[in-house]
Amino acid sequence: MKLSDYTITVENYPKEGEYLLFNTRTQAMVKIEQGLKEIIADYYNPQKFSLKTKYCNELDQLFKMGILVENEDQDREKLRSFFRQLKYGVNRSFMHVTLLTTDACNFDCVYCFEKGARENINMEEPTCNHAMDWMKNKVERLGYEELYITFYGGEPLVNKPALEYLASEMKNWCDERKVRFRFMLQTNGYLITPEYIDKLLKLGLSSVRISVDGLAHIHDKNRPLKGGGGTFYTIMDNIVECLDKVKIGLSVSYDKDDIKHIEDLLDYLDDLEILHKLGDFIFSPIHPSFGSKSHPELFRQMSCMCNYDDDVIISAAGKIHQLMEHKGLPIKNGMTITACPLTMENGGVTIDQRGNIYKCNSMLGYKEFSVGDVFSDEYNFQHQKFLNLSPWQSCPQDCPYLPMCSGGCRFMAFLENKNFHKPTCKKRYLDEMAPVFIKREYEALIPKDK
Ligand code: SF4
Ligand code: SF4
Repeated sequence: MKLSDYTITVENYPKEGEYLLFNTRTQAMVKIEQGLKEIIADYYNPQKFSLKTKYCNELDQLFKMGILVENEDQDREKLRSFFRQLKYGVNRSFMHVTLLTTDACNFDCVYCFEKGARENINMEEPTCNHAMDWMKNKVERLGYEELYITFYGGEPLVNKPALEYLASEMKNWCDERKVRFRFMLQTNGYLITPEYIDKLLKLGLSSVRISVDGLAHIHDKNRPLKGGGGTFYTIMDNIVECLDKVKIGLSVSYDKDDIKHIEDLLDYLDDLEILHKLGDFIFSPIHPSFGSKSHPELFRQMSCMCNYDDDVIISAAGKIHQLMEHKGLPIKNGMTITACPLTMENGGVTIDQRGNIYKCNSMLGYKEFSVGDVFSDEYNFQHQKFLNLSPWQSCPQDCPYLPMCSGGCRFMAFLENKNFHKPTCKKRYLDEMAPVFIKREYEALIPKDK
């Protein structure tokens, strides 16, 4: 019996002589005392026999939780089986599809990755119909309990007919079959009104996500209206007017160690008395990407695409974490399993306005990386090539983060190495942040004064 290589120990917490054990594969967490810790560390010592008997139930529980394993071979076998399940399994609780109903936009953002290649193409009705048939087929064939759509663009509100058509048709179809249906709107926030939110709520709107870059002097420079003009104050007014109707979350990006613009924005939202009414915040580092074909120097950001092997990003992420804690805002659990959908048979997909299907939003517009289209039920050869990627096999097999990281983002690997195979490691970041995340998870379960 030994501690699994994927169990992380936080020493002397919550008290001196107490230890938190967290397993990244099973996500189990437990607090143990000194005596039990000593037995685990020296399990085969015959002098510990009587103590082993004393702690027999606890040891059994730790084994069931995956925190302890019989030996290294068993640890590795459980890991391989876990990765097989992740790659080929189906999470029937919901299917997530992102729909790009248009690539047109009313903004002219400085780092927009699409604008160089923008053709102002809306998703036409025949493509909408094929997209719906494709989703229905998947929901029925794989038995999903819920369909969750994100409407995305361009700006989805510049093509309202497609959004409303798709949402109402899919809602009716799901209602008839007792499949839950909801959708999220990823928007720049300029065109939302309480009246329009009311209309969308009837169609299944569950939340809105708006991208904001900081206060007006930063946001308006980065995200002006097409043809010129600031957008910050209109967006803030819209948020205030709609917030009582629907959950609104904000995405904020950063590209340096300086997070002052985030601090200023949170203070401003606090002054407006809406900071704690808002839904979750997503803070994402901006990374270079393919850009559009004609503007490869342009930038875009993705929430799941984080290169945390960069000192500047590690430092900024730490500061944001402290800031969120200071403001009393909910922080996402940093220890969850985040498998890259590109390497999963049944993960979420994005359907663009022409009906091409992608598994990674960072590759949108690069047809060679599309995995199929809505005009066929089968994925193409590229899908199989992505599915064959197993970067975790090149990582040290005793890396404690292996189950939750699985070798990192494939897109970053391609940007850095021009191939999809190498791991993109965030071990330095996780070494620094994992104890903080685990303590916070523990505190969320068991408040400090208990
Ligand atoms: S490669 Fe995977 S992890 Fe990286 S941005 Fe794309 S979908 Fe996300
Ligand atoms: S990429 Fe790095 S952190 Fe992730 S599993 Fe591999 S070695 Fe561990």
